[in-house]
Amino acid sequence: MSVIVIIPAAGTGSRFGGALPKQFQPLAGKPLIQHVIERFLLEPSVTRVVVPVAEALFGSVKNTERVTFVVGGATRQESVIRGLEDSGEAELIAVHDAARPLFSPAIFHAVCAAAREYGAALPVIPVSDTIHVMNDDATIARTLDRSSLGAAQTPQCFRADVLRDVLARAHREHVEGTDEAGMAVRFGYEVKAVPGDPRNLKITVPEDLAIAESYLAQWSAEP
Ligand code: C5P
Repeated sequence: MSVIVIIPAAGTGSRFGGALPKQFQPLAGKPLIQHVIERFLLEPSVTRVVVPVAEALFGSVKNTERVTFVVGGATRQESVIRGLEDSGEAELIAVHDAARPLFSPAIFHAVCAAAREYGAALPVIPVSDTIHVMNDDATIARTLDRSSLGAAQTPQCFRADVLRDVLARAHREHVEGTDEAGMAVRFGYEVKAVPGDPRNLKITVPEDLAIAESYLAQWSAEP
């Protein structure tokens, strides 16, 4: 099995604040994105990691044998498309948020296995908060049935032909999504959910870094 991993990292991280986008914030002494890249490079099935970054940063990063940086696009989806253009051939393509440094090898293996069987797969965790659909004036329009909701995580994994088709159609039809699994469903593909992990959090606000650091310490202490 061969897997190419695309890690969109070209966002400005406006919700995080500060001059440095969140994916370059230090976590236990090195940038978040470096944790993510190194974790994927430990996987023998990963033939190549492609990292779309902002144009302003492109000059200060260096390709290695298995890591290729490309200039990202204006949206997350465009950045993934740029990464895909430069990705080469593999059986599977995984997409992973640069801001999720704590995915486990077990989750990566599970989404890869499910993608081989179903064509597309992602980790999902149950939603513990009640989710309301809001009106513009901050009143509540309606309440969703929590028992049927799942929060999407990454890494998401796809057969290469499936992801290429989904992103090509999205581009042609001017459809913009916040994850590739949702786009695959939209274009009629079956997408399998595997159990996610609450520790696989997406760093979004500065407080998340302290939580990630404590998870990382627990992780290193585990036998
Ligand atoms: O903003 P959000 O947390 O949803 O971004 C998810 C990922 O997409 C981040 O890793 C971010 O750097 C990336 N992104 C990108 N290109 C953009 C916008 C976001 O690669 N234009």
